[in-house]
Amino acid sequence: MWAVPYHLSVRNGPSLILTVMLTITQALYDRIVAHARQDHPDEACGVVAGPAGSGRPERFIPMLNAARSPTFYEFDSGDLLKLYREMDDLDEEPVVIYHSHTATEAYPSRTDISYANEPGAHYVLVSTADTDGAGPFQFRSFRIVEGEVTEEEVTVVESY
Ligand SMILES: [Zn+2]
Repeated sequence: MWAVPYHLSVRNGPSLILTVMLTITQALYDRIVAHARQDHPDEACGVVAGPAGSGRPERFIPMLNAARSPTFYEFDSGDLLKLYREMDDLDEEPVVIYHSHTATEAYPSRTDISYANEPGAHYVLVSTADTDGAGPFQFRSFRIVEGEVTEEEVTVVESY
């Protein structure tokens, strides 16, 4: 499959390459939801990495919520550094950055927005609120660029 080389994406400027849709496999979708259910009532968080420039989430990486909080998530800085080195070695980027809300809707909080520093990533939020762990779970995706939140469509596929 043809993919835009990462340096080209950068040269063209992020506004031109941002698609307003997340396409994700059912298997990855299920793993994100399972992680959110497992960590409830604390927030769960993680990354799905993919080949740089592809926009295709492939490698599921559940992370530890270092804050272990029902209202906040924070990647452990050591884990995060290790992950970014690993992605660099594999020529990957964080295509999806996900976390759960366990008492509120699946929409980025003010804190989420202020900490969002990957304009190329899809910020996925899952809500496990008011479901008693049974679902259905809100699963929504957003772009967060310079404090501006744009919701995007989520398309779930069997395979890419
Ligand atoms: Zn949040």
